[in-house]
Amino acid sequence: MPEPKALAKALAFDVFGTVVDWRGSVMREAKAFCADIGADIDPAAFADEWRGLYNPAMEECRSGRRPYTRLDVLQRETLEALLCKHGVAPASVAEEKLAHMAFAWRRLDPWPDSVEGLARLRKRFPCVTLSNGNLALTLELSRFGGLTWDAIMGAELTQTYKTLPHAYLGTAEILGLEPGDIDIVINSHLHFDHAGGNTRLADGKPVPTFPKARYVVQTGEWEDATRPHERNRASYLEENYVPLAERKQLEVVQGAVEVTPGVRVVPVGGHTAYLQMVVVESQGQTLAIPTDLIPTSSHLPLPFIMAYDLFPVGTLEAKRRLLAQVVEEKWWLLFYHDPRMAVGRVGRDQEKYVLSEVLA
Ligand SMILES: [Zn+2]
Repeated sequence: MPEPKALAKALAFDVFGTVVDWRGSVMREAKAFCADIGADIDPAAFADEWRGLYNPAMEECRSGRRPYTRLDVLQRETLEALLCKHGVAPASVAEEKLAHMAFAWRRLDPWPDSVEGLARLRKRFPCVTLSNGNLALTLELSRFGGLTWDAIMGAELTQTYKTLPHAYLGTAEILGLEPGDIDIVINSHLHFDHAGGNTRLADGKPVPTFPKARYVVQTGEWEDATRPHERNRASYLEENYVPLAERKQLEVVQGAVEVTPGVRVVPVGGHTAYLQMVVVESQGQTLAIPTDLIPTSSHLPLPFIMAYDLFPVGTLEAKRRLLAQVVEEKWWLLFYHDPRMAVGRVGRDQEKYVLSEVLA
């Protein structure tokens, strides 16, 4: 087995929601703004509706219908749209007040541990932003919250909004990092929402995104993905994995396997027959990434199982086994599809499994 490379070469951070609390901060700004202009809009609804307009605005640029346009500009436009929806004519509001509110995204509070956490990480790794925020916005936001980065990067440098591949690969390229620096990609299973980043288009043909990586998947999952049936066909897109085999980068494994020291895959089944989770151990702590076995923290109760699952009773049994171990051995769990949180610990409340601690 090849030696693992020593350390990551850089850490690139999502910012809104990950490093700063956009929702609480926009609510605070909205409350003051609405009081100031005499508008009766609930601050929580204001924040959520404004955020709701954010993705469609970026999608105009991602789709190519509109050239890349800075987030500051999009926020100003969506703010005006939001006001119109609530019966407030933007022209009736003083320009300086509108401009101040549009820049609310430059005044977002860091989460309580962000400043210290980032400072600690920066002692070991170059830390950069990989945010949809433009440079001026992120610069001001960072000064506002006392966040120090090695570089402010993201959408404006790549002229691309996440989640288009160039937003990530372009950032890596500017940092002097190559997709070839990635050694290992673990696929929990080959459904398109988990394996879509495996490949990219080069001259219209799908090729491995990471040309030197080995891509690890269970043998049975590979066989199912290459011989789909009516029930699972819509979830499997050949271009996400066949090019890996063609370039001899696919590594099929059977059962629990240590992929690299401290990182192992463990088959769990349920969602697909050969779904595997990833278990990472470091310095006495364990993190499990069960992916679609427990996609969000809302799926912690044993009978809460996705309708997508091919073998729901398999999911039930695998969850029962995993959660008993997770509680007993105080593992961390990463919830791949959870929109509200990423990593937490689980405890028992009588017979039920519940979230006991949220890390991120
Ligand atoms: Zn899936």
